[in-house]
Amino acid sequence: MVDTFKAYQITKTDDGQQVTLTDLNEQDLMDGDVTVKVTYSTVNYKDGLAMTNSAPVVRKFPLTPGVDLVGTVISSDNARFAEGDSVVLNGFGVGEVHSGAYAEIARLKGDWLIAKPDALSDRQTMAIGTAGYTAMLCVMALEDQGIEPGDGSILVTGAAGGVGSVAVMLLSKRGYDVTAVTGRMKEADYLKSLGAAEVIERAPFSEKARPLARERWAGAVDVAGGNTLANVISQIRYNGAVAACGLADSMSLPTTVAPFILRNVTLYGIDSVMAPLDKREKAWQRLVADLDLDKLESTVSEITLAEVPAAAEAIMRGAIRGRTVVKIG
Ligand code: NDP
Repeated sequence: MVDTFKAYQITKTDDGQQVTLTDLNEQDLMDGDVTVKVTYSTVNYKDGLAMTNSAPVVRKFPLTPGVDLVGTVISSDNARFAEGDSVVLNGFGVGEVHSGAYAEIARLKGDWLIAKPDALSDRQTMAIGTAGYTAMLCVMALEDQGIEPGDGSILVTGAAGGVGSVAVMLLSKRGYDVTAVTGRMKEADYLKSLGAAEVIERAPFSEKARPLARERWAGAVDVAGGNTLANVISQIRYNGAVAACGLADSMSLPTTVAPFILRNVTLYGIDSVMAPLDKREKAWQRLVADLDLDKLESTVSEITLAEVPAAAEAIMRGAIRGRTVVKIG
């Protein structure tokens, strides 16, 4: 039996969507075979979209938002997990069509969960969260394309944001020369402290892209899409690759085939939400091995459940630096 617990709930009426922090109980939990006492969550860009109703992320009502959580199993009918286990959930439609992380209790499908890496605390796990796990998937994609540290500089867009900050840390720790693109040059020292060799202005990347520009980067991690991604692709060196994971600039991609057919450039799409368990587990193992936890801590702001709406508004304005963890349990 689950007692009453605090949770956000998004409801939809003819007047639109409402978000309330309320008390729920057992009958409000959705179907699942593992019940988790949530200790920490985080605020990702998608959570910002959901909490502010800036895009139709939530597609079932009423629903508890929050795509990322870590916590302790309080009951399980799933053979992979038992009471007391520490588990991590990233995506799989949680916070979109299944009630999620902004709650003291979540009931989930065990097939969506992975064991929390022993080397990470609950807080560190959510400091990484979907943003950090996605950054790792991007780095793994560039490695799959054979891009090595000696090949040239790697560009990271949206560098002061969540995915960007972790990508800068991971790439620099692996020995890559990293150039960080930011719209917030006041964060240049922060980005250098994470490992960026150079920090450059975002503005030129927001202009309409030429089909081909001067070849500058061996590879790139792009969180922005739109003109930003089009400009990045046009500047990739022969045989280089871009791992594209986001749309912080735009959903569009106003480019041509020229970089692909004349420079052998690869555009590698990254999805974290439905990635299979073996790929997730590999990414989390790599995060444990490759991430400097002191540097990670320097990116973190901690908030309470009550402060999530303000953080959601801030991430939509591009005003969050690094990673936000939400202390729940
Ligand atoms: P953040 O808001 O933390 O970071 C986004 C950063 O993008 C901002 O901080 C800002 O960085 C930059 N930015 C903002 N507006 C623009 C713009 N108009 N043009 C170019 N850059 C801009 O979000 P996250 O890091 O959590 O997520 C980044 C993106 O990745 C989002 O679009 C998100 O949906 C996507 N994502 C996708 C996943 C997947 O599975 N494919 C998983 C996780 C995230 P700065 O000020 O430094 O320029």
